[in-house]
Amino acid sequence: MLLAYFREMEDTIFTKIVKGEIPCAKVYEDEKTFAFLDISPVNKGHTLVIPKKQVEKFHELDDEDAEALMRTVQKVAQAVAESFGPDYNIINNNGASADQIVPHVHFHIIPRKDKSEINLEWSTTKYEEGEQDKVLEKLKANLS
Ligand code: 5GP
Repeated sequence: MLLAYFREMEDTIFTKIVKGEIPCAKVYEDEKTFAFLDISPVNKGHTLVIPKKQVEKFHELDDEDAEALMRTVQKVAQAVAESFGPDYNIINNNGASADQIVPHVHFHIIPRKDKSEINLEWSTTKYEEGEQDKVLEKLKANLS
């Protein structure tokens, strides 16, 4: 129990970057957000945008941090498009089954040149008769 508490309090590698304890190639910084080049880029200019506050998943951010983060994502996307061409992906992974490795919210902004650089294929499913209504009901009941 105590161990779990201390593990939660541990700084992520991205918090260490924000604090300047680990070097990075900084692209942008403001009061609430930080952007830096990914160390293993898909393409040159691949940038990570993060909240300074250490939060694991996107939906756990408070409104102010979420809004600030989205503004910075848009700002950096604009710079990426101007610098490297108009095509890019914005990718945000949440949780292990969604391929999140670093447990600190981050948006990848990835300049794209060719479809072969990332495999974004996914399998699809179908709604059974009446199932869509139940799914809608569930989602709407949980909107805050
Ligand atoms: P995830 O798979 O969690 O969405 O992506 C984590 C990303 O963080 C990866 O693309 C990885 O290259 C990047 N990354 C991990 N450690 C560091 C680091 O120390 N510095 C930088 N600049 N990027 C990192």
